[in-house]
Amino acid sequence: MTTIPLSQPHLPVIAACAKALASDQPFHTRIEQVFVLLRAILTYHDARLTYWRSNNHTDQITIYSSSAWSTSWDDATLQATLLTQHPTTKPITVDITQSNEDITTYQLVVNGIPVKWNDHIWGVLEFRTNPEETLSPHEQGTIVALIPFLAAEIEIASTRQQTTDLVDETTSLVPTTTTQDAIVIATATHDLAQLLSRLRQDFDPPLPLHSLLPLILSRGIEYTGADAGIIVYVDHDRQELELMSAHGYTVAMLPQGNGGQKRHRWSWENGIAGKVARNARPLLVREITQDVDYFLEDKPEVRAKLAIPITIDGRAEAVMILDSLRADTFSDHVATLALGVAEAAVQPLRRALRYQELLERSTQLSQVFNSMPSGLVLIDRHGQVLRHNPAFLQIWGLTQAQVGPGFRITFDMLSLLLPRFHDSAAFSDFCTNMQAKPEQEFSLNLKLRNPHQDLSIFSVPTRDSTEQITGRLWVIHDMTREKEADRLKSEFTSMVSHELRTPLTSILGYAELLLSREFSPEDQKTHIRTLYNSAENLQTLVNDVLDFARIEANTMRITRWTMSLSEMTNDLTRQLQRQPVFDNHTIKSDIAADTPPVHADKERIRQIMTNLLTNAAKYSPNGGTITVHIHELTDLPDDHPRGRFVVVSVSDEGIGISPDNLARIWDRFMRVDNSNTKSIGGTGLGLSIVKGLVELQGGRVWAESVVNKGSTFSFTLPVASDLTR
Ligand code: ADP
Repeated sequence: MTTIPLSQPHLPVIAACAKALASDQPFHTRIEQVFVLLRAILTYHDARLTYWRSNNHTDQITIYSSSAWSTSWDDATLQATLLTQHPTTKPITVDITQSNEDITTYQLVVNGIPVKWNDHIWGVLEFRTNPEETLSPHEQGTIVALIPFLAAEIEIASTRQQTTDLVDETTSLVPTTTTQDAIVIATATHDLAQLLSRLRQDFDPPLPLHSLLPLILSRGIEYTGADAGIIVYVDHDRQELELMSAHGYTVAMLPQGNGGQKRHRWSWENGIAGKVARNARPLLVREITQDVDYFLEDKPEVRAKLAIPITIDGRAEAVMILDSLRADTFSDHVATLALGVAEAAVQPLRRALRYQELLERSTQLSQVFNSMPSGLVLIDRHGQVLRHNPAFLQIWGLTQAQVGPGFRITFDMLSLLLPRFHDSAAFSDFCTNMQAKPEQEFSLNLKLRNPHQDLSIFSVPTRDSTEQITGRLWVIHDMTREKEADRLKSEFTSMVSHELRTPLTSILGYAELLLSREFSPEDQKTHIRTLYNSAENLQTLVNDVLDFARIEANTMRITRWTMSLSEMTNDLTRQLQRQPVFDNHTIKSDIAADTPPVHADKERIRQIMTNLLTNAAKYSPNGGTITVHIHELTDLPDDHPRGRFVVVSVSDEGIGISPDNLARIWDRFMRVDNSNTKSIGGTGLGLSIVKGLVELQGGRVWAESVVNKGSTFSFTLPVASDLTR
């Protein structure tokens, strides 16, 4: 099995480091590159090199690896290494603040290696690793092989630093001399350092995650000569991998995700990518056929595999897998190049992840904003709309096109909605106050008409992260339903108390009268009849209130049978005609002979017709004819349900209803209030009960009327079909 890290010194890595050290880049860039290159053979979180300008180890300078944690180092290992002049290892605890502000504590080890040459300590290299990954003697051996190169470069760097301290800036730009040896290495192997700096440039423009990861993959493939590859994003919360880009595979060769999912995801328990994601360590399989662990997992054509994590703060955030169809393609040198790609990707990836996190947060906020039932609108300091939610448009009855760019809340709202404002001055005062006192909160209750709406507006200043006022947020709540419910409650209370008191007073009065003295049988009968009528009125009222409550609560029970309307109507009109309220009226029925039977609740139809006939008599104080027409309706109104229906109409010659009121008479508690109706008692519940009962049986109601001529109230009922008969 040939996986890295290997335990023997890696000559290609040492050679690459020597090349990098000899390049003409600034000293700290060269040291950073060495740290990158060493990742091919060492597993460490971050590293640093400390060196001195003076022989007595004062005037200290430190260079950190480019993936350094933001947490600070302590100098205990450095001091111990200086003192002992031998490799030293010390455990430490490090607190890292995560993106969500949580603090995670890591147990680490600092491995210190002296850069010792000719009995002088030129510097100290330190690597922070996990406790189980302290540098082995072999790994230390690889680093020791670099020591002479490092010592030479430190000497040049510290002398140069001393000289440049003494000269002005222009002279410090003059290229410095290097040792003869270093020049030789530099001319032979210039490419790696150049490649890394080119990669940094490539990854420099800020890219979102879904563009950056494919770019990293394509550079990985390009620099290693791999035949195919994938790059996955590591979702640590769900312990899943998400495929971000694939190159050179057929669909069947890709890792198997959860079926039917839009995004290609799988558990990190599976496959090489999962293993690398969990361990955050690179993996190289030079010859898959010789490696039972991985051979079965892959397609037979893949012979070598290189899996590289891109780690941030010791955590693999992405994994790049490179495949080759030839065994031994991935030499140490190639693996080093791939690690270089991953290292160069660290900072751009950190940036992309931060951007992604911000994007997620703003998406979540947008969802909240858009799904709020209250209208929300953000405006800038000049009153221009920056953003609004769908409820804002819906509440004001505006369209998206009307609230386009540049929409000004004061002027444009006023001009668009002016006819609907009851009090436009209150609204413009509200807006003016906000302009004058931008730091204050304001609220306003606003009434609109056509249709009637009760709105409450609450306006608060919005601020940026430096507490500067940026504009305002308006929260608009449509209170129409609540206000309507309040109105109904108070109307109900006043109606019930009034309508109950009238018959009750009469019952009590007559009962008291009858008890107080003896009456002739004739008078007694008259008084008892009055008392009886009042009790009957009371009963009707109580029944109406109960029916109304059942219809409102949707608990009214309807039992429908096939029934003939003609028989029931003739029966009912005969009965009603005998009642005193119809003394001045004549009830006629006009029932078409071919009227089919209907599917309806007989008792409820009686109730509906009694109500309409009683209204017809009540609202024709001068008497007249009341006619009941019944026939099958051949020409159904447009908004009527389809099918066969019978229509029942009750016409009178009474006071009629004005067009304004006609639209509202079916509403609960609605009573026309004028001189004609003042003396006529009622609750305003009857017609709303009629409407509820008819609709529960599948029919519809409507009314036509001419003031002082009369009214016609109609309702329909479905014809009994063969099935219901
Ligand atoms: P009420 O108990 O007031 O009669 P309804 O709900 O039955 O309540 O009727 C609502 C209103 O409709 C009445 O107050 C009345 O103004 C009007 N109305 C109902 N029927 C007629 C009619 N046949 N002619 C004129 N107005 C009517």
